[in-house]
Amino acid sequence: MNIAVIGTGYVGLVTGTCFAEMGNNVICVDNNESKLERLQLGHVTIYEPGLEILFERNIREGRLIFTNDLSNAVNECEIIFLCLPTPQDEDGSADLSYVMDVAAQIGAIMKDNNDYKIIVNKSTVPVGTSRKVSNILSDSGFINFDVASNPEFLREGYAVEDFMKPDRIVIGSDSPHALAKLEDLYEPFVRQGNPILKMNPESSEVTKYAANSYLAMRITYMNELANFCEKVGADVDLVRKGMGTDNRIGKRFLFPGIGYGGSCFPKDVNALIKTSIDFDSEMTLLTVVDSINKKQKLKIVEKIKSEFGENLSGLKFGIWGLAFKPNTDDMREAPSIYIIRELLKLGAKIKAFDPAAHETSKFYFDSQIEYSLNIYDAAENIDALLILTEWNEFRNPDFNRLSNSMNNRIIFDGRNVFEPIKMNEIGFTYYSVGRQVVNKTDKVNL
Ligand code: NAD
Repeated sequence: MNIAVIGTGYVGLVTGTCFAEMGNNVICVDNNESKLERLQLGHVTIYEPGLEILFERNIREGRLIFTNDLSNAVNECEIIFLCLPTPQDEDGSADLSYVMDVAAQIGAIMKDNNDYKIIVNKSTVPVGTSRKVSNILSDSGFINFDVASNPEFLREGYAVEDFMKPDRIVIGSDSPHALAKLEDLYEPFVRQGNPILKMNPESSEVTKYAANSYLAMRITYMNELANFCEKVGADVDLVRKGMGTDNRIGKRFLFPGIGYGGSCFPKDVNALIKTSIDFDSEMTLLTVVDSINKKQKLKIVEKIKSEFGENLSGLKFGIWGLAFKPNTDDMREAPSIYIIRELLKLGAKIKAFDPAAHETSKFYFDSQIEYSLNIYDAAENIDALLILTEWNEFRNPDFNRLSNSMNNRIIFDGRNVFEPIKMNEIGFTYYSVGRQVVNKTDKVNL
């Protein structure tokens, strides 16, 4: 099939590349000239495991091209995927201007042309957006089209794997033809038997928000539970295992930490809250989730203050991990941003290491923080180490080397990467999430 993908960011680039990998001809359109130039030169613009090899192969074989020519892409392709940003607006709602602008442009391109098109919305958009896109297209005089909602569930860091073998595909449309066509397109991705769920556009649009908000709520529950465990002498890791082995609960997504971040959960929770208010059916549970999450991002700073006092000037902190989660260079709404800003405000100096996110971080911090070559460099002459992203390469460091390079053997671990008992044995003061603090001077019996 000939497919156009409009917007070549995290979702669009993965979508375009994976569709090309399944033998489709894909034209990716973006209006960011510098991004486009890099893509056209054959450079992958995001860090995503497994993407580069597919990207290079499909460019080489002529199935994947990048352009700013929307008109040509729309004319050439029957199926047009919108993978455009829907950032949070000031009132919490999803800003639909990117989606609506491109829908209007497609309408203008097609108004004198009767070729049939399916416009598929992969961006995360509030319920009712399919109808709005449909209205914009027909208002411009274009009539031969169907609109479908096809929310994307990929996880950054596993995006290629998730796209190639999705748990499920959700397609929402009132058009049996569009549903059948998209089912054909996705069939090769679900050969193991995972379902393609067809529904009306409203249900499809709500499904995406329902899934993300549920996951955000689950993490938030664990974060609050972790704070409680710290106060009462419980170990949240043991509690997590004790509850997660109940099949009704399940083991995944029960890890407490420093709050959820990323480009999706925070904005999607807020957008669902806003839509629920608009429809006079407020989801107050989510309002609480959002507010707990904001506080959770700064809990680690409270722990730092309990150790060093309110004034951190003259102190230097090493940071392992800047990305909002491992295996990505994405820092949108990353807890690290809030934590580093707060530490800088309190007078601290920061040196940081992340395996992928230094370039992204410069956008947020410019030269306000130092960047290190590796984990040991980030620990050299620091007063304490903070672990903010659980990259695998942080899990088994040479603790002797760390001890020798740090001014104080103090770690604030926002991701529970190490075992408290081990840290105590090797003489570190170790703060983690939902578990008791161990102090280098007191050997404890955990
Ligand atoms: P992104 O910001 O990484 O990418 C969007 C791209 O659209 C950018 O490259 C931008 O230059 C381009 N663009 C903007 N206006 C354009 C226009 N008029 N014409 C052509 N290109 C244009 O965003 P993303 O993370 O890929 O997210 C896209 C959508 O998918 C959002 O609605 C998001 O909520 C949703 N989503 C994201 C993820 C994720 O993990 N990132 C997962 C599922 C769903």
